[in-house]
Amino acid sequence: MNIDCAIIHGNVITPSRIIEQGCVLIADGKIVDVLDTIPRLGETVDIIDAKGNYVAPGFIDLHTHGAGGADFMDGNTAAYLTVARMHASHGTTLLYPTTLTSSNELLYETFETYQDAVRNNKDGAQFGGLHLEGPYFSPFQSGAQDKCYLRNPQPEEYMEILNRTDDIARWSLAPELPGANAFVNVLRERGILAAAGHTNATFEEMQEAYQNGLTHLTHFYSCMSSITRRNAYRYAGVLEFGYYEDDITVEIIADGIHVPSSLLKLVTKIKGVERIALITDSMRAAGMPEGKSILGSLTNGQEVIVEDGVAKLPDRSAFAGSVATADRLVRTVIREGNVTLHDAVHMMSETPARIMHVDDRKGKIRKGMDADIVVFDNNITILQTIINGTTVYTR
Ligand SMILES: [Zn+2]
Repeated sequence: MNIDCAIIHGNVITPSRIIEQGCVLIADGKIVDVLDTIPRLGETVDIIDAKGNYVAPGFIDLHTHGAGGADFMDGNTAAYLTVARMHASHGTTLLYPTTLTSSNELLYETFETYQDAVRNNKDGAQFGGLHLEGPYFSPFQSGAQDKCYLRNPQPEEYMEILNRTDDIARWSLAPELPGANAFVNVLRERGILAAAGHTNATFEEMQEAYQNGLTHLTHFYSCMSSITRRNAYRYAGVLEFGYYEDDITVEIIADGIHVPSSLLKLVTKIKGVERIALITDSMRAAGMPEGKSILGSLTNGQEVIVEDGVAKLPDRSAFAGSVATADRLVRTVIREGNVTLHDAVHMMSETPARIMHVDDRKGKIRKGMDADIVVFDNNITILQTIINGTTVYTR
């Protein structure tokens, strides 16, 4: 076999262990071998000397709205490519562009822009498919979603949306809404991941949705119900169901701000690394200097101020979005969540790949996998990002 590239002298993070001074061989964009010594290599092989740094599977972000000043709802291909490049420079090799609730016209435009962006994306994180965040959400848990677009799932509408594109990979919804269970069934039939988000569901409503095929929770702890009391009676909510049902997976904005250290420790202890994906849920200001920015649309979005590593409303009364990047998530869960480097990387690569059913080719450094690889130092500073065997970023 003709080896194209060899990454040598790396602490290679494999699914089972970290191989010190390991070697990863790449051919035709795939990982063809992972070794603990350097084999005899031909003169034509491109050598990447990792110099004792970590060599990890590329990061996979299931939920991001933007970065580098651009948002996926900006309505142009250049915005997609800017976000993809900025996230790649922070170690992400695969991401799921996430929409905000909007008019259907704007959504349909996004479908076309997505297609064009996939064709033109040469040096950014790959696009795994769209994540539709809304519009079937609870008005009581709307967060930064525009309330005026929130509604109940109607078959005429969602079938029309589904029939316009094959690019939807996941869809977040509030399972307590009338018609939600039928909708979840349709998503399951189509192989689209149904997730609960911006929801006020009770434990029992979540249980029903789970039985219909909803298996994932969107930004765990943000915009979801916990225990409530109604006329003296106590009701468990989405959070409790997330902990109760082992097969439910969750995603967390592990920027250390949206989910504080105490809760990071709780969720990693109870759910475990196999059930947790780290997400950025980043807005356009991710990867940019702090200061003023805009959440959502450039023409009629919400003005925000970015400071202390998070976006806030101008009066600082509430958070208004994350500016996290994947490297920061890994760094944060190690420091604030009491997990090992190996586990942190697992939650940023292998687990999200499995949640999206792309783990047959993504999320691991193992023979046969796509050569999506990131090299970083002890501080998780990204030194090099490789996608399908091609370097797209070097520090
Ligand atoms: Zn989001």
